[in-house]
Amino acid sequence: MTEIRNVIIIGSGPSGYTAAVYAARARLDPVVIEGEVSWGGALMNTTEVENYPGFRDGIMGPALMEEMRAQAERFGAQMVTRDVVHVDLSGPVKVVKDGEGNEYRAHSVILAMGSSYRELGLENEKRLSGHGVSWCATCDGFFFREQEIAVVGGGDSAIEEATFLTRFASKVYLIHRRDQLRASKVMQERAFANEKIEFVWNTEVADVLGDDRVSGLRLRDTGTGQERTLDVTGLFVAIGHDPRSELVKGQVELDAEGYVLVDAPTTRTNLPGVFAAGDLVDHIYRQAITAAGTGCQAALDAERYLSEVD
Ligand code: FAD
Repeated sequence: MTEIRNVIIIGSGPSGYTAAVYAARARLDPVVIEGEVSWGGALMNTTEVENYPGFRDGIMGPALMEEMRAQAERFGAQMVTRDVVHVDLSGPVKVVKDGEGNEYRAHSVILAMGSSYRELGLENEKRLSGHGVSWCATCDGFFFREQEIAVVGGGDSAIEEATFLTRFASKVYLIHRRDQLRASKVMQERAFANEKIEFVWNTEVADVLGDDRVSGLRLRDTGTGQERTLDVTGLFVAIGHDPRSELVKGQVELDAEGYVLVDAPTTRTNLPGVFAAGDLVDHIYRQAITAAGTGCQAALDAERYLSEVD
């Protein structure tokens, strides 16, 4: 029989590593199951992070995540670079299995699997990520002062991103596949009234152009198939997110979009001893600092839970 640990943390973004720092410093000997392909979460795919407090000159996303990981290891957190493929969270002892058939058991589990940003699926979109292609206006808008940029999408978040970006950009093209938006009426009206936003209807992005940085887009008319080039220096992809909650579906309560529901302001899920943090829960703020904040809360909640069941 495998040993029963205090806490298992699933996920390795700012929420998972922050939970690990707190749990390790509370001497709970956490194990962090980080994911197989790459540990470190969403910030491993970006360049400069300028809004994480404590770094006045900014820090590269991967460097920030290496620091967080090393900080957790310094206090004794154990890292396992594998995917969790199965969990049984129902009983007082939680069972977690990784892709190589190893089983881990613990009195508590912190879910920190994050969410994935939907991509257009273009090769050059990936290549130019962090070099003009972005998924986060709050994070990157500041880099596009007085530039002409584009947002792709048609829902509330695309309109919100486009409207926010007009604070920085000289012009924002909003590219949408259809001839009308899915966004709420109020948001639409606000965007239509904004002189900096130009709508590009019935159009999809066929390619992202540029060698080291985005220099333009190849657009395709969804009706005629005709293509043209649009000169922009940035592309914000705002076509939605998918929380990575598949693993816990049917065990932990989720909302209609698949985000884990917690008893806010705590990180408690509907299952005793199971806590959730970061973008797996949060569909509003989606920032490294908010993920780190709720990761801290989850570790403190787990610590309290463990002292109560002792
Ligand atoms: P994530 O960072 O998504 O990490 C989750 C981790 O869990 C991943 O490594 C994943 O592989 C792992 N995982 C998932 N499922 C499993 C499993 N079954 N088994 C094991 N591991 C698993 N925010 C800012 O504040 N400032 C910025 O400048 C900024 N720039 C960004 C740039 C880009 C390109 C992107 C995509 C996001 C950016 N963000 C930024 C947002 C920020 O990255 C996220 O809000 C934050 O990373 C969320 O942290 P998290 O811990 O919830 O999840």
